[in-house]
Amino acid sequence: MKVHEYQAKELLSKFGVPVPKGKVAFLPEEAYQIAKVIGGSVVVKSQIHAGGRGKGKFKDGYVGGVKIAKDAEEAKEIASRMLGNVLVTHQTGKEGKKVEKVYITEASDIQKEYYLGIVLDRAKEQNVIMASTEGGVEIEKVAAETPEKIFKSWVHPVFGLQRYQVRELGFLLGFKGDQFKQFCELLEKLYRAHEECDATLTEINPLITTKDGRVLALDAKMNFDDNALLRQLEIASFRDLTEEDPLEVEASRYDLNYIRLDGTIGCMVNGAGLAMATMDVITLEGGMPANFLDVGGSATSERVKNAFKILLSDKNVKSVLINIFGGIVRCDVIAEGVIEAAKEIQITVPVVVRLQGTNSEKGMELLQNSGHNFLTAKDLKEAAKLSVASQRET
Ligand code: GDP
Ligand code: MN
Repeated sequence: MKVHEYQAKELLSKFGVPVPKGKVAFLPEEAYQIAKVIGGSVVVKSQIHAGGRGKGKFKDGYVGGVKIAKDAEEAKEIASRMLGNVLVTHQTGKEGKKVEKVYITEASDIQKEYYLGIVLDRAKEQNVIMASTEGGVEIEKVAAETPEKIFKSWVHPVFGLQRYQVRELGFLLGFKGDQFKQFCELLEKLYRAHEECDATLTEINPLITTKDGRVLALDAKMNFDDNALLRQLEIASFRDLTEEDPLEVEASRYDLNYIRLDGTIGCMVNGAGLAMATMDVITLEGGMPANFLDVGGSATSERVKNAFKILLSDKNVKSVLINIFGGIVRCDVIAEGVIEAAKEIQITVPVVVRLQGTNSEKGMELLQNSGHNFLTAKDLKEAAKLSVASQRET
């Protein structure tokens, strides 16, 4: 799960990580009031679940999703241009994201920008801390072009972050004296926050030194492990549904494992492995899956019905492939769910069905006698071919 910068900073400051003072605003007038309290120049920061805001551009031509205002008056003016406007950055895709809130923070006098990140290295089964003096810019670019400028340190899950690792990174980044101490403290607190919050990613870009000698997290991005949210109630409450795909939100209400993709063939499959294999075979046959959907092993006809409805409400879907291997889940139950859904919504695209395993004949029979024109296939290859060939013209 992703959260906004202002939420990540709220969490981090509870762990003692120094961040600039700030408060979120939903209206230009609130932006004015907050800026007045902070006093002096402030930064107005668009809050969306994507980075690259500073270099972003709004749909109406307004430039910059992060802007410095010299006083409260200007902060209000900038906020009024950002709020309700759609911001496009290299991370949002060309459709961009609507800005519903802005974060007003005190402006910092930057001496130097650094990068500091913690992420799970799945291959090494350890968290890795990444640090670089090349902060502020896209770290992906640094990683691709000058990887030697990123220092890495892996943390043993049992022994935890060691003081020598923190000091080594501090030295590599070139910190000295009091700033070295500040950096070490900040990193230790950041790491504690990352672990205790069940984060999968914590990224400070940029981490800065100010002209008056402080070390601060100027930006913060945190992602969390969805499977840990049941013990992270505060973080779970940070979920912002307006940032998520409406179909994925709908699917999560029914406990469906649904992820929307860019293709045109809607897939309904039981089991994550089979779902991935199905997507592969569709691609092999020249098509592109519109989604990943695992209805799960304990699918009831009610769940299948909801899953099918969600699939069909994706405007990009030009045909549907239902691929079920009946083991624990019975094929006739799946067929019933599909038929129930078909009663409630009009099916305007070809639906290819492949059922194998428990009660597959019964399932096929139900589908064939349903009065709907389902296309049937005996194996996965044939089903994938058919789903690609039968796609509705747009
Ligand atoms: P991002 O573009 O979404 O990563 O947003 P950031 O919060 O990282 O801000 C983008 C850039 O704006 C930073 O890299 C800074 O260069 C600049 N910036 C943000 N806050 C301040 C500030 O308080 N003072 C100054 N001088 N620059 C800032
Ligand atoms: Mn940033």
